[in-house]
Amino acid sequence: MSHDHPHHDDDHSHLSEMDIRIRALESLLVEKGYIETAAVDEVIQIYETRIGPRNGAHVVAKSWTEPDFANWLMEDATAAIHSLGYTSRQGEHMVAVANSDQTHHLVVCTLCSCYPWSVLGLPPTWYKSPPFRSKAVIDPRGVLHDFGIDLPETTAVEVHDSTAETRYLVIPQRPAGTDGWSAEKLASLVNRNSMIGTAFADNPS
Ligand code: FE
Repeated sequence: MSHDHPHHDDDHSHLSEMDIRIRALESLLVEKGYIETAAVDEVIQIYETRIGPRNGAHVVAKSWTEPDFANWLMEDATAAIHSLGYTSRQGEHMVAVANSDQTHHLVVCTLCSCYPWSVLGLPPTWYKSPPFRSKAVIDPRGVLHDFGIDLPETTAVEVHDSTAETRYLVIPQRPAGTDGWSAEKLASLVNRNSMIGTAFADNPS
């Protein structure tokens, strides 16, 4: 075997196998004229900013202020979320799980990085990391502790494993001291991690 073949792989050592595959596929499609780099960048931009976690925050705040919507969301999250105009491109089934003093929900994808893009945008890097994916199942309380959450023993922790077919949206508990707040103002307290289960909604103060 020749020793003068180019060592391109070295330049990509920091990328995951999936990243490399996506890059290769993107270059190929650009080269063949099927897509433009600018168009790909625009899709990423949309998921990072326009779609993003603000969609999920809107869903959560509406469920906090409208009991009928909250009930619908718990019964049929796919339809309730779709009614607000947030539709997934993949057509997956959505399930909403509401946190309470009795139960705290945590979402993970143990196989890869399935994530509810239509309501949360792009997944954070840690969501795709092998340590998070394995520890979330083996030691969910330890993961929550790593994220700064220590729950009382009386609160059960339920872990939900996302798949390509079913993706979860955590409805965090509504923070105290927000009586009479509008849904719009409440949405500003709903951070991304609180909808994955690795944080609480922000404190109003
Ligand atoms: Fe996955």
